[in-house]
Amino acid sequence: MTDHLNNFSEETGCPKCSSLLIKPVKYTWWGGVIGPKLLHHTKCEECKYTFNSKTRKSNKNGIIIYSVIVFVVFFLVFFFLRMRY
Ligand SMILES: [Zn+2]
Repeated sequence: MTDHLNNFSEETGCPKCSSLLIKPVKYTWWGGVIGPKLLHHTKCEECKYTFNSKTRKSNKNGIIIYSVIVFVVFFLVFFFLRMRY
C-alpha cells in the first residue's frame, strides 16, 4: 500500500530526487529539437537527471535508438544521392 502511494506522489516530480523542478528539454546534442520531443525528454533542475516524462525512466535506450535511426536515414539519403549522380 505504501509503495503504491509513494509511486503516485513521485509521478509529478523527478524519479531520482522527487524534485518538482523539472523542465522539458527543448534541444539536445543527440536529437536536435525533434529528438527530445519524441522521447518526452525531461530534465531535473535539481540533480540534472534526464528522463522520459511518460515512462518516468531514463531515455538512454531511446537516445541510442534515435541516434541509430538518424544515422541510418542520413546514410540512406547520402547513398541515394550518390547513386543518382
Ligand atoms: Zn532530480
